[in-house]
Amino acid sequence: MNVPEPSIVLRPPASLGVIGGGQLGRMFIQAAQRLGYRAGVLGAIPDGPGAQVAHWSVVGPPDSLSALRNFAGHAEAVTVEFENVSAPALRWLARTRPVRPGWRTVWVSQNRLREKTFLARNNLPLAPWRPVRTEVELAEAVRGLGLPIILKTADSGYDGKGQVRIDEASQALSAWNQLGRVNCVAEGWVRFASEVSVVVARGADGKALTYPVGLNRHERHILDSTVMPASVGPIVSHEAQDLALAVAQALGTVGVLTVEFFLTIEGRLLINEIAPRPHNSGHLTIEAAVTSQFEQQVRALCGLPLGSTDLAMPASMVNLLGDLWKDGEPNWSAMWNRDPGVKLHLYGKQTAAPGRKMGHLTVLDPDADTALDRAIAARRALIER
Ligand code: AMP
Repeated sequence: MNVPEPSIVLRPPASLGVIGGGQLGRMFIQAAQRLGYRAGVLGAIPDGPGAQVAHWSVVGPPDSLSALRNFAGHAEAVTVEFENVSAPALRWLARTRPVRPGWRTVWVSQNRLREKTFLARNNLPLAPWRPVRTEVELAEAVRGLGLPIILKTADSGYDGKGQVRIDEASQALSAWNQLGRVNCVAEGWVRFASEVSVVVARGADGKALTYPVGLNRHERHILDSTVMPASVGPIVSHEAQDLALAVAQALGTVGVLTVEFFLTIEGRLLINEIAPRPHNSGHLTIEAAVTSQFEQQVRALCGLPLGSTDLAMPASMVNLLGDLWKDGEPNWSAMWNRDPGVKLHLYGKQTAAPGRKMGHLTVLDPDADTALDRAIAARRALIER
């Protein structure tokens, strides 16, 4: 599984395709275009964040044969912006062109049961967990893990969707019913000191590089801010980067992969989840790193050498959620007046809904904590009237 792939080098202006037309697809396309590639998207809507900036776009679901055929007619190499792409679709595309990450990485990481089983088999550290596919397993999870636990659907969960916390044994059945009695994993509640993540880029030759560790804060289960480098000390940083490399190596991933961790109050790192792609916590690498996570995705896809993952300066990122549009367009002037050094990214989404990621701000500063304070202050200015 982790044997290096044959190296095919695709040079500009080859045409690259990304499956998924959201902001991650958009930023991949922008990175590819900067290097002189043509880049296009297979997305659900004609004017999504990716399609708006693409050289070409195909509209349709990623598992429709006609949409895939059309997409395959344009794309000399294929990557993905999310993990819910069918493995058979990726295998079919891979018969005639590089597909990175490969179907196996995507298949493992799109289902929490498979992901946890895979990580456990590879002796990678996880929060205590149990599969929940029957009422008997549910009862066993409550008994075996102790309370509280968090029940998560095995498929298609993100940003806290498909999760219920269970505090009392008597709530367990109604919690599982609430999730539709689908296959789930139950996790022991982790008392974490912080949440951190590591973005890894791995080339077709098996060489891999990590970015510095990011320190993440979530609000309502959605990422709110990242600071890089995280102030977790050299030993934890090193260990997190080693674990992330071990995950990428075990999966044999070619491309970019992100590992999210809990750092427990005892100082242990536990893997929360993996994403086989660039990640929200790596967006600040666009300005802060020598090579952004999206450029690494292009480089790995095309068989080019990876670029340096060094940071030019510490940085922070804060997300701009749709809630900021509640009373109309955010006050961009107030933000710029407060801090002209703030870097604004908007994803071109036409409707703002609460919790929807509309854009983000990045701030570079010689001091990481100051970078975060500045980004939060700039975001606060957006709601000044
Ligand atoms: P996830 O979608 O699994 O990344 O979960 C979203 C967020 O919920 C995490 O970033 C944590 O803040 C919280 N969370 C998830 N699982 C646990 C757990 N086992 N213990 C404590 N908090 C959790």
